[in-house]
Amino acid sequence: MSRKINIAIDGFSSCGKSTLAKAVAKELNYIYIDTGAMYRAMTLFALQQKLIKAESIDREKLGDLLDKVFITFKYNTDLKRTETYLNGTKVENEIRSMQVSKYVSLIAAEPQVRRKLVRLQQRMAESKGVVMDGRDIGTVVLPDAELKFFMTADPEVRAKRRYNELKEKGTETTFEEVRENIRHRDDLDSNRTHDPLRRADDAIALDNTDLTIDEQFIFVMNHAHKLVHATAK
Ligand code: C5P
Repeated sequence: MSRKINIAIDGFSSCGKSTLAKAVAKELNYIYIDTGAMYRAMTLFALQQKLIKAESIDREKLGDLLDKVFITFKYNTDLKRTETYLNGTKVENEIRSMQVSKYVSLIAAEPQVRRKLVRLQQRMAESKGVVMDGRDIGTVVLPDAELKFFMTADPEVRAKRRYNELKEKGTETTFEEVRENIRHRDDLDSNRTHDPLRRADDAIALDNTDLTIDEQFIFVMNHAHKLVHATAK
């Protein structure tokens, strides 16, 4: 007897949340939802509309335009990955740029943006069978998720992993720029007023500084199996 559950994975920037979440979703045949991609798409929209100037946002205009923003995911069968679309255009590569990374935590701190995206995320998880990663999934989006993790890792290690990943993709950047971006986002995400990054009381801590991807996967799957195969009461 097995049952469908929701799994929330929160944590700091560049902790490897999405790698882990994708692997777990694949194993369980669940849907993976990258909520960071949604905030990134919203940031790309704000940049395209020139709503961000000198570290400040044109809040009124952003509010007026919010109803015109449609963020969707589509599975690419050739690349075997889910890709993000902004108003019907694929933006999977654009949302990973340093320009978007630089402003995303500013946009993500906007209560009107969070309200819209949180609602959308909650709808996506209504039928269960979802692995969702982000910053506020266990605390705000899916407080009733059956299984929650909170990931951390040494900031230097995170910066190195992220830098190598960007370099592999051919993104022009330096190690210092990546490290500073991670530090800046951790700071804004943890200290914002609305839905800050924090560990839910019932989240299982997972520090992966010295863990391989396989070890993290086994750790999460051990917990998941207990719940998925628990006899329904
Ligand atoms: O997960 P990723 O690093 O791509 O997320 C980009 C940014 O989106 C984060 O630094 C954070 O500011 C914001 N975010 C958020 N809430 C989430 C997911 C991401 O505020 N649930």
